[in-house]
Amino acid sequence: MAAGQADAYVSNLMAGHYLSLELGLPNIVVAAPAPFEPNNLSIAVRKDLPELASIIDKSIIAMTTDEHKNIRNRWMTVDFQQKTDYELVWKTALVFLIILAVVLAWVQVMRRQTAALSESEAHLRKARDDADAANRAKSTFLANMSHELRTPLNAILGFSEMLSRDTEITGNKKEKIAVINHSGEHLLEMINDVLDLSKIEAGRVELEPQAFELPRMLQDIGSMFEARAENAGLRFHLDRVSSLPPYITSDVSKLRQILFNLLGNAVKFTTEGSITLRTWTQAIKGDSSMVALHLEVKDTGPGIASEQMERIFEPFVQAKTFKTNTKGTGLGLAISKSFVELLDGKISAESEAGKGSVFHVSIPVALAEASEVVDLKAIRRNVLGLEYGQPAWRVLVVEDSAENRLLLSSILHQAGFEIREAENGKEAVTLFQEWQPHFIWMDMRMPVMDGYKATAAIRELPGGDAVKIVAITASAFKEQRKNIIEAGCDDVVHKPVQSHEIFESMSQQLGIRYIYEELDQNTLTEAAILTVEMVAGLPIYLREALRRPAQYLDASATNQVVERIRNNHPETADGLQLLVEKFSFDQIMKLLNESDRIQH
Ligand code: ADP
Repeated sequence: MAAGQADAYVSNLMAGHYLSLELGLPNIVVAAPAPFEPNNLSIAVRKDLPELASIIDKSIIAMTTDEHKNIRNRWMTVDFQQKTDYELVWKTALVFLIILAVVLAWVQVMRRQTAALSESEAHLRKARDDADAANRAKSTFLANMSHELRTPLNAILGFSEMLSRDTEITGNKKEKIAVINHSGEHLLEMINDVLDLSKIEAGRVELEPQAFELPRMLQDIGSMFEARAENAGLRFHLDRVSSLPPYITSDVSKLRQILFNLLGNAVKFTTEGSITLRTWTQAIKGDSSMVALHLEVKDTGPGIASEQMERIFEPFVQAKTFKTNTKGTGLGLAISKSFVELLDGKISAESEAGKGSVFHVSIPVALAEASEVVDLKAIRRNVLGLEYGQPAWRVLVVEDSAENRLLLSSILHQAGFEIREAENGKEAVTLFQEWQPHFIWMDMRMPVMDGYKATAAIRELPGGDAVKIVAITASAFKEQRKNIIEAGCDDVVHKPVQSHEIFESMSQQLGIRYIYEELDQNTLTEAAILTVEMVAGLPIYLREALRRPAQYLDASATNQVVERIRNNHPETADGLQLLVEKFSFDQIMKLLNESDRIQH
């Protein structure tokens, strides 16, 4: 209904009602706009129903004032009720409409928000899934890469080590073999470094705490860096080591790596002045078995600008330094920070550009007893063969790589074991049934049937519970050990495997006894008194000066270098002199090569 029509209708009704009152017809429904006045009514009606209006006019004129009032009062009641009802309906409708509109708007907003939320949730979920997938891909890639690199390295290191012990090979050839071995080990260390960071990122680095002699460890590192500093024309100070507790338990290799990185940077970036390694401990309240170990590396180098300070602990960040020819990956501080945090400690740096830097590390460590300390320098003797009076040990070598199979078989065959070879798990199961070996070296990743399945299958066969199975894995991740042991293996060794590990593992599992290379008391004493760290502690120019005459078995030229060494390192000189007297130049070369490795 249009507005005009509605008005007319209402007016009509009002007029009708008014008339109904006058004419005694009360059942006409009326709606009227307030304030109601019969005059108004007349006016209202006039436009649409002029005839009716003139009747109303006449009636109004004919009315007495009282009648007028009376009608008005009655009208007012009706009007009030009607008006109230209509207003109520109208207001209710309006409120309802407003509420409806608000609710609709709210629903709309909510729907949009929910849609946006679920959209961003979906984005987040997708991002997380993508990150997980990328991480998994990275781990798989690393595991594969590590496997692919370690497998050939295993053969390189193994054969070169074997040849270096071959008495038929001498002089120049032996040297070259030592170079192959040395380079292989260097390559392995680099692979391990890159893997370190990747493992940290994937949260897969584990602590390996052990008891060790703290002052000795610091002194070893100190003398190594003393040599490097000397080489770079810098002074080196090692402070307060004597006041430290003698034995502590911590992850010594991570502590070494942290110190190597900090001291390495100090030497690398400092052009003049000095480098100081200061160490001290502090009691930890409420725990007398622990102390806080503080390590501070201070240098007089170029320092680090404050705006670069915040970022230097991030991976691949290298601040601008005055010494531009420095090498590095930008990973050292990031790895150090992660190791310190893993050890529950803190690392910080203070620096003033142009005045030098101070790196400070504090780590809680447990105090230990001398009896807990494992001698890291246990002398490994070469196995010459099997002791007499033992069973004819049958060993099955299961390995898909022909080179590694040959390597392992050669080492074992040389020692006197009976050997059979299998290229995959399936062949291993068949050979196990036919031949009943005492021991199985099981590669885990192989085509046709892998080491896990083969081990489980062998364990089900008659005699399968008695055979010793040790896994050889090229996996970089130590947590794989759990899966391997669960598959039924007795132990795990990691590639590249050294021959002494092979013999030790077999002796542990089966009590096999060996005949070792003779080591007389002198050799033992010399080996014990002249450590790799002592040789590594010599400045590089002295080590290089020593290498040449030792290579050519030139005793007098070697002795001349030993005398130069005696000035600052008398103990090292004594040890070297003993080796020259015994003509043990191979031992000197070995110590030099191993000390190079420590320095890398
Ligand atoms: P890298 O030494 O391989 O570049 P690091 O992570 O060990 O990587 O160090 C990151 C950066 O921090 C370095 O490139 C250098 O700019 C700065 N830095 C670290 N130690 C020092 C130091 N002792 N003096 C000056 N700058 C340093």
